[in-house]
Amino acid sequence: MAIATVNPATGVLEREFAAHTDLEVDVRIGEAHDAFLRLRRTTFSQRASWMHAAADLLQSEVDGVAHMLTTEMGKTLVQARSEVSKSANTMRFYAENAEVFLTGRYIDEPGRMNASTAYTRYEPIGTVLAVMPWNYPIWQVIRFAAPAFMAGNSGLLKHASNVPQAAIYLDSLFERGGFPSGTFRALLIPAAKVEDVIRDPRVVAASLTGSEPAGRSVAAIAGSEVKPVVLELGGSDPFIVMPSADLDRAVATAVVSRTSNNGQACINAKRFIVHDAIYDDFVARFTVAMAALRIGDPLDESTDIGPLATSSGRDELAELVDDAIAAGALVTTGGFLIGGIGWYYPPTVITGITSKMRLYREEAFGPVATIFKAQDVEDALRIANDTSFGLSSAIWTADSDEEAQLIEGLVAGAVFVNGMSISYPELPFGGTKDSGIGRELSMEGIREFVTLKSVWRA
Ligand code: NDP
Repeated sequence: MAIATVNPATGVLEREFAAHTDLEVDVRIGEAHDAFLRLRRTTFSQRASWMHAAADLLQSEVDGVAHMLTTEMGKTLVQARSEVSKSANTMRFYAENAEVFLTGRYIDEPGRMNASTAYTRYEPIGTVLAVMPWNYPIWQVIRFAAPAFMAGNSGLLKHASNVPQAAIYLDSLFERGGFPSGTFRALLIPAAKVEDVIRDPRVVAASLTGSEPAGRSVAAIAGSEVKPVVLELGGSDPFIVMPSADLDRAVATAVVSRTSNNGQACINAKRFIVHDAIYDDFVARFTVAMAALRIGDPLDESTDIGPLATSSGRDELAELVDDAIAAGALVTTGGFLIGGIGWYYPPTVITGITSKMRLYREEAFGPVATIFKAQDVEDALRIANDTSFGLSSAIWTADSDEEAQLIEGLVAGAVFVNGMSISYPELPFGGTKDSGIGRELSMEGIREFVTLKSVWRA
């Protein structure tokens, strides 16, 4: 795959970049390693002031960065702007909270260990490789980088090959804020070169957000080197609607949750599980609302749905839908390839899904919703958990017993009650089962790439 920007709205190759040579990669790893040796000697308050400065720069450049994101991967300009602002806010969040999150603790009753005092302290570990996807080219990286650098680590970025301009922008952002030169180095390399980087002794850990095969590969290599990993992989999140729910709000939220980022987010709701008593009503209203979305130029501020990021992504989505239709699924809106230029796929709603269809098991990475009918809470949980994924989930109910049963029964990294799954810097984020290992964001996220040292004093 070429390292290039191809505008998804036009299919036009806008910029292409030569991959870094092995020598260039070696130099860049060395720069990041040297930066770590300097960073580890800096204070939290020093790093916080650099992080605030970098956040201010990012926010001040929001228009240019958002335009770059829209032309690189097709998200609407409106959503690109909010991605940039959310990223800047998360940088500030870690600038303000990292020191507290990484405060060790005194051990109670040290005399039982013949000590006068005993305590723990968190320390940075070194240079961490981040393998990142194209769907939120700034946010996914900042979610890794802000806590990593506040902890005193440095980083290497292997970004998705279709978002090289985002990678190059991020390469210099932190240095421009004042961090030591080399704190973050983008490696313009194909996926096949990631193994060498993980095995490099100067690289101590890896974080990957992306597909399950990529995650398995990175984890296997890191495991053989005894290097820790955090994996944020796919999801096929359930969105459960019970009869006591506010149906107007549930339908409106369901549409946003399925289609934000043109339907290409790991935590988009993908499977809608609706109680029998309100099923027909939900399907009818949801279908009307999905069909009403405006598809078009992502630079146009009135557009709801832009193109998918790649032609191959659109083809894979179309194959999943065609497979379901061929096996008897019913399409209530959408379900066809849009002709003309750009990699557009219409908002699509499908019912009558059976376990024989690929859509039952596989993640639909685009604006395609499947709706299932449940008889009761147990049935809803059975359908929701019948997946290899376990990222997030949403439940809609006004019944507190039902709520408690659903929260406990869902096998997922998060449950959102009467709302949609969103990542917040304050809330730990990550999945179970094939959706990943470890957590990002919040206190738990910054503690993934630090080491805990126990201190005992006679
Ligand atoms: P990939 O997992 O292929 O790409 C994500 C990142 O991993 C990219 O930087 C990619 O590099 C790199 N990569 C891919 N394969 C390997 C490997 N074997 N070893 C090391 N690095 C690797 O995602 P795709 O873009 O192909 O998307 C496919 C599916 O991934 C989607 O349908 C969705 O299910 C899932 N996905 C999930 C995301 C999430 O947020 N959890 C985000 C994006 C995708 P390169 O681009 O050079 O191949």
